Amino acid sequence: MTNEPLQPIEQDRRYLWHPFTPMAQWASQEQLVIEAGQGEYLIDNHGRRYLDGVSSLWCNVHGHQVKEIDQAIKEQLGKIAHSTLLGLISPPSAQLAQRLVKMAPAGLEKVFFSDNGSTAVEAAAKIAFQYWRNLGKQRNSFLVLRNGYHGDTLGSVSLGGIDLFHETYKPLLFKTYLAPSPYCYRCELGLKRTNCGLACAQKVEEILSQRADEIAAMVIEPIVQGAGGIIVAPEGYLRRIRQITQQYGVRLIADEVAVGFGRTGKMFACEHEDVQPDIMCLAKGITGGYLPLAATLASEEIFESFNQPGCTFYHGHTYTGNALACAAALANLDVFAKGKVLEQLPARIEQFGKRLEQLKRHDFVGDVRYKGFMGGVELVADPATKRAFDCEQRIGAHICLAIRKHGVILRPLGDVIVLMPPLSISATNIDFLFDALEATLRDCRTLLKSKAQQEK
Ligand SMILES: *Cc1c(COP(=O)(O)O)cnc(C)c1O
Repeated sequence: MTNEPLQPIEQDRRYLWHPFTPMAQWASQEQLVIEAGQGEYLIDNHGRRYLDGVSSLWCNVHGHQVKEIDQAIKEQLGKIAHSTLLGLISPPSAQLAQRLVKMAPAGLEKVFFSDNGSTAVEAAAKIAFQYWRNLGKQRNSFLVLRNGYHGDTLGSVSLGGIDLFHETYKPLLFKTYLAPSPYCYRCELGLKRTNCGLACAQKVEEILSQRADEIAAMVIEPIVQGAGGIIVAPEGYLRRIRQITQQYGVRLIADEVAVGFGRTGKMFACEHEDVQPDIMCLAKGITGGYLPLAATLASEEIFESFNQPGCTFYHGHTYTGNALACAAALANLDVFAKGKVLEQLPARIEQFGKRLEQLKRHDFVGDVRYKGFMGGVELVADPATKRAFDCEQRIGAHICLAIRKHGVILRPLGDVIVLMPPLSISATNIDFLFDALEATLRDCRTLLKSKAQQEK
């Protein structure tokens, strides 16, 4: 046996277990090794460049190697990388907490830090539950939506509504009330697109009118259900949900982990409908896609219920409020402000939307959906009947592998092709992304046709 160092592909194959990956297939797939990033591009170990079409799983904001964020991390590193928030103050976390409260929807006054989206939601659920206990009440359940996704820890999984991801763990989960998803392309109430949204909100009201005293909070991904398939709620749905939850005295947890930080065209998705949640969860884009960090923001009323003698929120993580991550987050917010990032988005979002709409020309495109720079293209075997491909055929995965040849990295959600470039993407690169997808759909046309016919 030699002690030759293994190459990354071999090391990976022998020792690494990949997330959300059928590992039995992994070894036989052609692999890409990403060694660097620059702007909107990922660069592999052969120097080939690929457009980062899903923002490194939805978290990158201003591209890779952003001067200001790089610099902020280096400066922080010259002081300290990490010290605990248990019993001690750390300046970057205090400064970031202030910035987040100032920019968040009105009413959110306190920031609880953790490390990722799942823990942000986990903390939110525990806070909402304990808030009612603090008031001397017992509300042991939550209202959630079908197709909802809130992370992979068991509390967050309990709040999820995607059978493929969540079904296996059912015996371990707490009970929730499940309301329909405002997925109007395939309305589960069997209604036309224009009637789906309000009817879905009506179902929420029905549950609350009977169960409000058991429900600590409703948990929602505002405007777009991300992992459920880039499901864009019809206008007015979120506002209606806020009205109903208020009416029945149920708290609203807005999971802005995916939609926050400009992703939908506004800093936070709740702003589209002037909604003020009671609790808001942030992660993914918070550090510009650099380092793991998350925040759970709570209203003064909720915080005050804990701000009493003898009351403690027994929750915290070793790296809570990590100084490097908070420094990156502060720099991320500076880039937003100095670069007038949100002000410049509308023109490019319009271009993005137009190119998405044009995809409907292709034979197997059933639906296109988007809000801001969050786009989904649902591929179906028969657009006339909306008949889906057999999921065993892994059509979405096939397309996303095939587009690599055209210099783009994508990752699908089932047969929904997700398009989620960094907010910094140029007009030229938007065209590059869509030209590549159109070329790939043409390349794969014969294959899609045969797959579509197989099941007839
Ligand atoms: C990704 C995501 C999460 C989980 O975040 P992680 O950082 O992956 O744990 C939670 N909620 C939503 C809406 C997400 O998109």
